[in-house]
Amino acid sequence: MTMFADLHLHTHFSDGTYSPEELVAQARRHGLAALALTDHDTVEGCAPTAVLCHAVGIEFIPGAELTAEQGGDEIHILGYLVDIQNRRLLEEIGKFQGVRQNRIREIVARLKQMNVPLESDAVFALANCRSPGRPHVARALVQAGICASLDEAFERFLKKNRPGWVPKFKMSAAAAIELIHQAGGLAVLAHPGLNRTDDPIPGMVEAGLDGIECFHTKHSTATSEHYLELADHFHLLVTGGSDCHGMSKGKPLIGTVKLPYQHVEMLKAKVAGNLMREKSCVKRDA
Ligand code: AMP
Ligand code: ZN
Ligand code: FE
Ligand code: FE
Repeated sequence: MTMFADLHLHTHFSDGTYSPEELVAQARRHGLAALALTDHDTVEGCAPTAVLCHAVGIEFIPGAELTAEQGGDEIHILGYLVDIQNRRLLEEIGKFQGVRQNRIREIVARLKQMNVPLESDAVFALANCRSPGRPHVARALVQAGICASLDEAFERFLKKNRPGWVPKFKMSAAAAIELIHQAGGLAVLAHPGLNRTDDPIPGMVEAGLDGIECFHTKHSTATSEHYLELADHFHLLVTGGSDCHGMSKGKPLIGTVKLPYQHVEMLKAKVAGNLMREKSCVKRDA
């Protein structure tokens, strides 16, 4: 029987709506052999999700989706198989969570200037996580009856260059790749088809990028094929996932992108190879 994985999933530890329990129940329903949790700028959900996966025989890949930038554009970098207790990783994402929380306050302040009666505490209460983002503001706007839908909230207020838009400080792509590597993980460019251009990719490869997310809900077949060719050209690993945010974007997306399990094996083989190399270096240095 062919085995499949979904390597891009969110929970309520960032802007998804599922709890780890709901996520794992859905993964089971779709017959996934493996899943990766990739919440935005946090690994908090990994430990509870790992326990739940273990209990039902689903392989768990710890991960995070780091917000970074390259050439002025925001890009997302998936870190897979990271040590979720790595001190520097936790420090850096902790700082970034602070940036996210301040940004919520700034967004709310801008909305207030437009006489939109929203309190940041309402957003924080609704988000109930350390890594809040614009989707939480959008949900709060809907909950308060100010917007009819999440789309309306983004269109009117939250999209780039709309009145409530606040840029966030981001680390460079190279810094994100290094942060993931020093935590023992692999760095994969998320949903490149949603980026403006492929121009940053060679520089990221130079910085040690390990893979490209070729399969994603928002990639057409042609887009996936384009990135499979790029991955082949640069000798990069191939990943894929649904980017499911639970019920927050209409229909849950989990189960719509099925990555053949062989790609998970290749990720694990690379991490194992890196570990072996590290050990032999330590021996040589000793
Ligand atoms: P943030 O990290 O706070 O900048 O928010 C980014 C999140 O907002 C991502 O998960 C996006 O999928 C989501 N998002 C961006 N634009 C829209 C939109 N027009 N409607 C709904 N969600 C969006
Ligand atoms: Zn998200
Ligand atoms: Fe993303
Ligand atoms: Fe995502």
